[in-house]
This record gives sequence, C-alpha cells and structure tokens, in this order.
Amino acid sequence: MIKDGPSRLGIPLFATVAEVRNGSVHKSFVSKAVWNEIRPVKQVVSWASLVWHKAIVPRHTTNAWLFVLNRNPTLDRIHNWDAESLTTCLLCGLENESHDHLFFECQYSLQVWLRIINRLSLPTPPSAWTAILLWLPHAHGDGFRRLALLQGWQAAIYFLWQERNARMHSSLTLSLLAVARRALDILLDNCHALCSLGSSRGPPQLQIWQPPQQNVPSIFSI
Ligand SMILES: [Zn+2]
Repeated sequence: MIKDGPSRLGIPLFATVAEVRNGSVHKSFVSKAVWNEIRPVKQVVSWASLVWHKAIVPRHTTNAWLFVLNRNPTLDRIHNWDAESLTTCLLCGLENESHDHLFFECQYSLQVWLRIINRLSLPTPPSAWTAILLWLPHAHGDGFRRLALLQGWQAAIYFLWQERNARMHSSLTLSLLAVARRALDILLDNCHALCSLGSSRGPPQLQIWQPPQQNVPSIFSI
C-alpha cells in the first residue's frame, strides 16, 4: 500500500472520487464529461446523420435505425430460420420480400415513397436502398428541405412497415395513397406542433409539408 499515493499523483488528500477524472482534479463534477471519459468511443458511422438529426419523429427514427442495421424480421430473414415460411411480398404480391425490396424496389413501396417526397420538388430519387443512402445528404442544397427529406424517408419506411405488418396479422389493407396520406398527415401534425411550441423550425417545415394550393394537380398530388 502506498501511503503518499494521492500526493504523488497531485491529488488533494480530501478530494472526492467524482472530482478526480483522467488523473487530474476538476473543480466541479460534470456528468457529461465523466461519461465521455469512461465510455468506449467508436468511429461515427456514415449513416448517423441520416438517422439522428434535428427534426426526428422518434418512432420513425427508431424504426429507420433498425432497418439501417438490417435488424427487422423481413420475410427473407424469417425464411432462413423457417424454410416453410412464405416469402412473397405482402405489399405487391409479386416478388420476394427483403429489406432492399421493401425500400423501395417494390412497386407499391416506390409509389408511396414518391408520393411522400413529391412535396419537396426534388428530381426523381433513386429506388435502391444503398443509392438512397448516398443520395439523401446531397439531394437538396437547402437545409430545411434536406431535413424534410430525411423526415419523409423515415416516415415512408415507418408507414410501409406498419402496413406490411397489418397485412401479415390481419386481412385489412390500405391503398398506397392511404399509406402516403397517413405519413404526410403525421409530418404535417409534427409541423403544427413545432409551430405551437414556438420552434423556429416549425414555419419553414410547415411550408414544405402543407398540401399544394395551386389548381394544377400533379400526378402524385394527394
Ligand atoms: Zn413488393
């Protein structure tokens, strides 16, 4: 036992454990600083800013995160555990369901995705998952539209997965227009909530997500 250990290390005799961090003494205890010193730090993944951003809708984001990690039980994955399970996509009924098929190689999913982001006035987006991840950060120069696009992408994933699960567990089905409308309604509700809370992000996002007022309907207007 080293009796004069603390003094050799420059630690005052009556310093608390909370005051000593990383071999030096700090005047105040800041939990964030302690957490940053004790937690393992990994390199930031390339998709982090696509999933976790300033305008998240938490349940949409959590769901998108699980799909980025490919952790949700799509039918192709279930088939690996149960060879007798069905694999046909529950949304289009034409091809096998997989992560990449659902988002958005499936014709049903693709139309929902296009209808949601139609309000952002963007050039035609890619339909392949990997291409979308590369496209999202650069799809628009305006910060609010970029955030709205991330919201729309996560909402599309969330409501398509919800519709897919509803079809799996019941006979109720929604048209692709109804699924897109649900997503847009929630995004619009989110804007109204931000506005009523006085957030500076509310008005510009509301302007993006509110339905078009013009009389010339787009083929994707809903
Ligand atoms: Zn499909």
